[in-house]
Amino acid sequence: MVKAIVGANWGDEGKGKITDLLAERSDLVIRYQGGANAGHTIINDYGRFALHTLPSGVFYSHITNIIGNGVALDIRKLTQELQMLIDAGVPAPNLIIAQRAQLLLPYHVLQDTYEEARLGGRAFGSTKSGIAPFYSDKYAKIGIQVCDLFHEDRLKQRLEQALEVKNVLFQALYHQPPVDAQELYEELLSLREVIRPYVGDTVAYVHQALKEGKTILLEGQLGAMKDPDLGIVPMTTSSHTLAGFGCVGAAIPPTAIEDVICVTKAYSSCVGSQTEPFVSELLGPEGDELRRRGGDKGEFGATTGRPRRVGWFDTVATRYGCMVQSATKVALTCLDVLGYLDEIKVCTGYEVNGVVTRDFPVPALLDQAKPVFTTLPGWKCDIRGITEYDALPANAKAYVDFLEREIETPIALVSTGPKRHEIAARL
Ligand code: GDP
Repeated sequence: MVKAIVGANWGDEGKGKITDLLAERSDLVIRYQGGANAGHTIINDYGRFALHTLPSGVFYSHITNIIGNGVALDIRKLTQELQMLIDAGVPAPNLIIAQRAQLLLPYHVLQDTYEEARLGGRAFGSTKSGIAPFYSDKYAKIGIQVCDLFHEDRLKQRLEQALEVKNVLFQALYHQPPVDAQELYEELLSLREVIRPYVGDTVAYVHQALKEGKTILLEGQLGAMKDPDLGIVPMTTSSHTLAGFGCVGAAIPPTAIEDVICVTKAYSSCVGSQTEPFVSELLGPEGDELRRRGGDKGEFGATTGRPRRVGWFDTVATRYGCMVQSATKVALTCLDVLGYLDEIKVCTGYEVNGVVTRDFPVPALLDQAKPVFTTLPGWKCDIRGITEYDALPANAKAYVDFLEREIETPIALVSTGPKRHEIAARL
């Protein structure tokens, strides 16, 4: 059976912790989209880790971790992450890299950087990890697959073909030096040795595992709002962040995904450019306080360290996020963070052109949306680490009940702290 853990919102919902927890009972953990541009924070007995490319099952020796064909694989970043595990004393993980995954290459990072600089104030808030150029190249059919590394003539020819286009762009549009195909070819030959022990036929592996009744966990990166089709276009990422994309990016049969656990925080947070629409944003000193108290070390990006924008829980965006993810249940994280508040606001509607709606508007209308709030009483105490749902204060439970009614999806798990076992089952 297959479970997917995905984000209902803008990313950083706390998926890493939930994945780490549920990985314990899984046989395979698979990353199926995105690249090293976002990170999951995992806190366990080995320490605190920000994983960017490696699946969250790498801390367990019984788990096979797969980097699926839908991932943007940056071998250098992967090497750094593997080294980070070695340095922390984590036993070597069981890892398989899809032979059909494509490579994120240095020229993707360059292109991302040049393009953001060219756009100036109109930039998309990219992490400049090369993700957008990588996926553009994939769909333009000039991407390079992991398997190409082991077929040298093909590799050389594919690189030359890609660079023919890329170098015209670099020189003419960005006024930057061209990339040397031969130099890159040689670098790739040495990088392939790093991944050689891990490369495999993940499609056959996954299908065999399903036949054997194994439990598979699909690990999503970012959240529904960042999906390039159904998200806040154009402030999205470049790969599909929806559970359904696991069928492509991990070659999972569509009928096999039984459970979609959508993760959402008890408040909103969003990393990205200031120009991104974020309707329930909390600004000023109140926002600063929530940012400081949020997450395990304040709300700062796991990959970039950038301060995240924070806001009240947004039921309009989250109900839509759960719908497009086809969530079967929700894991609500960071409830403990709100314990300092006398009153807690929840964004329960958007006013667009004088009309209040509960339906998430199209991106063209999002900038005009104003939040409509409902105010609930706070619980004014520290609930960190509570693992019995019934032991939560009545107002905290009422808050969870209220959110559940609004998002129309059962809230099955309530997380009360960043550590693995600081969580209460509700259903
Ligand atoms: P992800 O990308 O969805 O995995 O989210 P991140 O790991 O980037 O951000 C979530 C942050 O919240 C991290 O700092 C986690 O350690 C932290 N976190 C997760 N669950 C909880 C929780 O229930 N309470 C608190 N206080 N922090 C949490």
